[in-house]
Amino acid sequence: MKAAILSLLPLFFLSACQVPSSISRSAVAMPLPGELKVALPPLIVGLEGPTWDVVRPGGENLSAWSKPVNDTYTRVTTSRKVVAITFDDGPHPENTPRLLDMLKERKIRATFYVVGNMVKYSPELLRRMIAEGHEIGNHTVTHGNLARMSDEALRAELRAAHDQIVAETGVTPRSMRPPGGAIKKSQKELMLREFGYPTILWSVDPEDWKRPGPAVVTSRLVNGASPGGILLVHDLHKPTVDAMPSTFDQLLAQGYEFVTVTELIELDEKVGE
Ligand SMILES: [Zn+2]
Repeated sequence: MKAAILSLLPLFFLSACQVPSSISRSAVAMPLPGELKVALPPLIVGLEGPTWDVVRPGGENLSAWSKPVNDTYTRVTTSRKVVAITFDDGPHPENTPRLLDMLKERKIRATFYVVGNMVKYSPELLRRMIAEGHEIGNHTVTHGNLARMSDEALRAELRAAHDQIVAETGVTPRSMRPPGGAIKKSQKELMLREFGYPTILWSVDPEDWKRPGPAVVTSRLVNGASPGGILLVHDLHKPTVDAMPSTFDQLLAQGYEFVTVTELIELDEKVGE
């Protein structure tokens, strides 16, 4: 499934007349004027297949989710032993490739909340993330305090970061994380309404950015993990990446399955809180 989707992606960079007629139109329909139509990463077995998402530059993105979603998640309710691990503030030119190697070795998929001002230095890392099955979310361009911004400034931050991710990967970000977790209720509603973004917070914060040492980061993550949880860490910091092999291996040994944030939301058994 994944290989099939990835093989389709280059089609979006070709003209419509090059699309083989044997491929269903729903999968490869060329963008209408003013629209981008892009592939999303495949979902895990048992969930819906890849969905196709329409984003209008005006900001509407209401068809991305297969069910109603909340405006905020710190975790989901699920009987499955799954967690989503999220890496913020990258991509970092050295730490992120090292992390991607660790993830690949263990066949773990993660979600990266990238910062536009970092993306511009290592855009190829976004393409690697997508090629290896990870998800990319919107963490703004400047990493400023959104709660202090006007709605117009908020829209500009999100739109620029959104467009940058789509331009680099052809894949639409499905959710956002506010820098520092600073966000107002009215802003969350605006982002869900106009961008289709739920605001993704976390259930476990090991405060890795304070650099407590890899062993402490690992123990906080492993002890804090629970089914449906969202783990927050930062691939910007080398000691955080140093903590990952042990973290991954301990959680895998406990029977946890790693899913992306989109997959986690699709697994939520409680809707409409
Ligand atoms: Zn951040």
